[in-house]
Amino acid sequence: MTSANLFARMSSGIADPARLAIETPDGLSLSYGDLFDRAAQAANALTALGVMPGDRVAVQVDKSPDMVVVYLACLRAGAVLLPLNTAYTLAELGYFLSDAAPRLMICRPSSLEVVRNLARTVGVAHVESLGIRRDGSFAAKIAGASDTFATVPREGDDLAAILYTSGTTGRSKGAMLTHGNLQSNAAALADLWRFDANDVLIHALPVFHTHGLFVAINVTLLAGARLIFFPAFDADAIVAALPRATVLMGVPTFYVRLLGHAGLTRETTAGIRLFVSGSAPLLQETHLAWRDRTGHAILERYGMTETNMITSNPYAGERRAGTVGFPLPGVDLRIADPETGVELARGSTGMIEVRGPGVFRGYWNMPEKTQQEFRPNGFFITGDLGKIDDDGYVQIVGRAKDLIISGGFNVYPVEVEAEVDALDDVLESAVIGLPHPDFGEGVAAIVVAAPGADLSEHTILDALKDRLARYKQPKRVIVVEALPRNAMGKVQKAALREAYSDLFSAQA
Ligand code: AMP
Repeated sequence: MTSANLFARMSSGIADPARLAIETPDGLSLSYGDLFDRAAQAANALTALGVMPGDRVAVQVDKSPDMVVVYLACLRAGAVLLPLNTAYTLAELGYFLSDAAPRLMICRPSSLEVVRNLARTVGVAHVESLGIRRDGSFAAKIAGASDTFATVPREGDDLAAILYTSGTTGRSKGAMLTHGNLQSNAAALADLWRFDANDVLIHALPVFHTHGLFVAINVTLLAGARLIFFPAFDADAIVAALPRATVLMGVPTFYVRLLGHAGLTRETTAGIRLFVSGSAPLLQETHLAWRDRTGHAILERYGMTETNMITSNPYAGERRAGTVGFPLPGVDLRIADPETGVELARGSTGMIEVRGPGVFRGYWNMPEKTQQEFRPNGFFITGDLGKIDDDGYVQIVGRAKDLIISGGFNVYPVEVEAEVDALDDVLESAVIGLPHPDFGEGVAAIVVAAPGADLSEHTILDALKDRLARYKQPKRVIVVEALPRNAMGKVQKAALREAYSDLFSAQA
């Protein structure tokens, strides 16, 4: 029987089981043979707990190779992985457990007791623990299980994972991702980015999010390449690993922080063939500074939990700063009128909509919400506003919900941010719309000064006068120490809007 099981696809490409799959700084390295055998043991442990194909397995553990083992075990057993951000509180966990109704929850050893108590109240049958040093009750079950397991056949549209989106408004939604979604996207990226078994990828991303879990891990394992697995981002450790690696995948903050490290040079990066950035906008300034320092052009790509990766700058060819490149092979991408869904002419700014093999099956338990986010012709409404330039490069101008409408005019935050960021003494900025008694929304800029610089609201407002149309100019500037960001480096604009919600009404 042919199977679309992603694990079957990964394992079929491994010619030499003795090749290293995962290397860690603390010596917990695994060959492909070790990794797949351990995944078989973990799959047997899941099955012994009554986990059946289609059952959800929630996992909230610290990052270690055993998280990859649990992921592969779920694929092998046909179970649906539900990775949870380690920052979620017990109350948040309660929501995910009651919404997804997993058969099993795997948590950190230190929270076993409280999670068991919670699980009882929401009807989750089993709670096990897994630590980063092969400790915890589930690690013991893995150790005691057979390393022979017949991978469960799966169809392309069978679920492989549910990832809850980091929704800032309303309830967090569980995006249902299939074996076919993950497999097609990983294969497209591995091909486009020319991965092969000699690649060594520096992995310092979290493993509960699409970037670190699917883009980085699936692409590497599909190619039979190696992961250097770091528990978290650490600039010293990454700079030290650069000479042993060929690829780095990161969020923009990684690149900004590495630029602040004296060890980042042409010499230390000479063996790297590809730097990839995604999950949040990479400033042009960062792209240029990186190229000056290392001689490498960072490849920026764009995607989201619901769609997998959608666009990428080219491997060979111009990687254009400030753009996210071209749609991946097999992805239909169009710019549409946000209200009517009618496709707009090339060069217009509108809603980015996509259709293709990576687009998810819908939101778990939310059929109406799912229906609202798709057009009748199957295009998924991403919620991102963007445009396509004359050469076909896609440019993102921001989330639709971050669009500012001031006095009836549309203000795209990214355009104002680019001008603010270009000013001397500015490190970075976030431009938001706040309730305003006259204009509906007023433009406000939240700005971080460059190290050692002394910024005032007045100097910024003055400097922007000739650079932006009047309606786009911020009416207020607030200088702060740092912008609030989530684990993927995304600026939390909803939090800023809340914090400064009465900025203009207080004035009136
Ligand atoms: P998530 O589902 O958490 O991966 O978030 C997806 C969102 O991140 C997208 O809808 C975009 O708003 C944003 N995003 C991802 N990659 C990029 C990028 N290269 N540039 C700008 N925004 C991005």
